[in-house]
Amino acid sequence: MKFIGAHVSAAGGVENAPLNAAEIGATAFGLFTRNQRQWNPKPLTTENIRTFRQNCEKKDYGPGQILPHDSYLINLGHPEKEGLEKSRNAFFDEMLRCEQLGIDRLNFHPGSHLKKITEEECMDLIAESINLALDRTSGVNAVIENTAGQGSNLGYSFEQLSYIINRVEDKSRVGVCIDTCHAYSAGYDLATASGFKKVFEDFETVVGFKYLMGMHLNDSKKAYGSRVDRHDSIGKGTLGIETFRFIMEDDRFNNMPLILETPDDSIWKNEIAMLQGMIPA
Ligand SMILES: [Zn+2]
Ligand SMILES: [Zn+2]
Repeated sequence: MKFIGAHVSAAGGVENAPLNAAEIGATAFGLFTRNQRQWNPKPLTTENIRTFRQNCEKKDYGPGQILPHDSYLINLGHPEKEGLEKSRNAFFDEMLRCEQLGIDRLNFHPGSHLKKITEEECMDLIAESINLALDRTSGVNAVIENTAGQGSNLGYSFEQLSYIINRVEDKSRVGVCIDTCHAYSAGYDLATASGFKKVFEDFETVVGFKYLMGMHLNDSKKAYGSRVDRHDSIGKGTLGIETFRFIMEDDRFNNMPLILETPDDSIWKNEIAMLQGMIPA
C-alpha cells in the first residue's frame, strides 16, 4: 500500500491537520506539532490531543501514515553548550508531543557543525542527542532526514546517516527519511532509471531499507549536486516526473508516509492524484 500526502497546515491546532489532509485526498500527512519558529511553544491541551486522535480515526490515518517534522530551530549537533541544551530540550518536547498524539515517528534534520567542530564531532553529538531523547520517551521513532548539504548541515550522505545510526543505542527506534530533492542536490542521481537503481542499491548497502520510515517527495529547483535546498513541484524541476514514477512502481516504498513538501499547496490535490495514478494496478 502506498500512503501519499503532503505536509499540511496545523494552523488553529494540531487537530486540524488530519482534516486538511483529508480535504486534498491524502492517505498520509506531515505536520508541525508546534509553532516551528518559537523556542517555547504552548503545550498541547487534552482537548487538542483528544480531537487530533478522533480526527485521525475518522479520516483513517494510522500512526504509520503520519510524519511530523521538528522545528527548524533545533540543532542536535550544536557545537556550543547552550545551543545544544536548548535543542535537546526542544527535541524532547517534540518527541513527547508525538507520544501524546499517538504518532510513532518524528522526522528531523540531523544538525549543523556551524564550522566550529568537525563533522565527526557533530555527528557524535547528534547520536548522543538521539539517545537522550529515546531514553526519556517511548513508542516514538527518531527519523533522520537526509539533507542537501547546504551550509554546514550534515546528513547529506548515506555514510553519514549510517554513522549516526551506528551510534544510536536502541536501533529499533531509529529510522531515516529520504528527501528526493535533498538527495539529488547532494549528488545522488535519482533522475534516470539507472541512476535511481544504483542510488537505492547503495542505500541498501550503506544504510539498509529496514531503516526507511518515510520519504519526502520533492522536485528540485536547483541543479544536480548543487547542495542547495530548494523544492519544486513534482515534474516541474530538475529531477523531473520519472523519479516519482520509479518510487510509485517500487514496493520498497510501501507502507510508509510519502510526503510532499512542494511549494504550491494549491496543486497538492492534483499532485497526490497524479502520484496515485502512477501506482501499478
Ligand atoms: Zn524534506
Ligand atoms: Zn528541504
